[in-house]
Amino acid sequence: MGEVLHVRDYRAYFHTRRGIVKAVDGLNFNLSAGETLGIVGESGSGKSVFLLSLLGLLPKPPLRIESGSAQFGGMDLVTASEDTMRSIRGNKIAMIFQEPMTSLNPYLKIGTQLIEPLMIHRNKTKDEAFKIVKGSLLKVGIGDPDRALNAYPHEFSGGMRQRVMIAMALTTHPEILIADEPTTALDVTVQAQILELLKSIQKETGMAVILVTHDLGVVAGVADRCLVMYAGKLFEQGSVDDIFYRSQHPYTHALLKSTPRLDKALAALPSIAGTAPDLSKLGPGCPFDARCEYVKEECRNSFPTAKRTEEHESFCHLEKLP
Ligand code: SF4
Repeated sequence: MGEVLHVRDYRAYFHTRRGIVKAVDGLNFNLSAGETLGIVGESGSGKSVFLLSLLGLLPKPPLRIESGSAQFGGMDLVTASEDTMRSIRGNKIAMIFQEPMTSLNPYLKIGTQLIEPLMIHRNKTKDEAFKIVKGSLLKVGIGDPDRALNAYPHEFSGGMRQRVMIAMALTTHPEILIADEPTTALDVTVQAQILELLKSIQKETGMAVILVTHDLGVVAGVADRCLVMYAGKLFEQGSVDDIFYRSQHPYTHALLKSTPRLDKALAALPSIAGTAPDLSKLGPGCPFDARCEYVKEECRNSFPTAKRTEEHESFCHLEKLP
């Protein structure tokens, strides 16, 4: 599969009155067509800031891209003009969010919200736009598209609204779909249906998906590869098997231990002790040092360099977990 996104040494900092907040600090990864990449980490790990900044959706200032590149379709998204970014956003790279109501206008019928953008931004006639939208709604499992187009968002359940958002994203045949916690607000059965839907659409269209989540269970179910972030830094990346079965990184292990499993009965689910560090006060070392049970002197002095085995990359001073 061809590569669609190539990110190197990506650093995005917020310059605030309180100091410099290193929200994303040295991200490297590749994304291939047809692949699902899960980006996991706790709140504040930088996963959403990375994606929003990549699409030029965060105000500059206070945000500044300090270094790096993000090659997509023969251009660098870091240096692309606002006009270029406008033409990429929602077209070649589409995004769906956790709560569809933040993107859907409650006062407008679904039809208006799906058809008009195609007429205005893609110069489609009303008939052409109608046909495309109907096809997309059918593709996401909305069996009666005519009724859906005449309805208001509040007439749908959360799961159906998320299907509408996916349909909206598909109307432009994106090369990459960014899904930011797309199932967090849904109950488990609907979550499974939406993830299954994304997988089948991906199989049919060959689009790449970046799935942002704090839930390793979701990653295990649908992702091909996984990237673990903490405090703006890349801690580990590899295939889902690398992360779930071969990881030697203390943070990944702590995340895995705090993920519910069907095959293990637990009285209480362990949580990771402590809290994430203040990103404006990070030292030169590993930002997980205050919470890591294996911390040693060198962890406080320098951030580890990458240990690599083929596609598996891990950043930790520890050779092997005891
Ligand atoms: Fe823990 Fe040190 Fe590894 Fe960071 S580098 S995860 S503090 S052992």
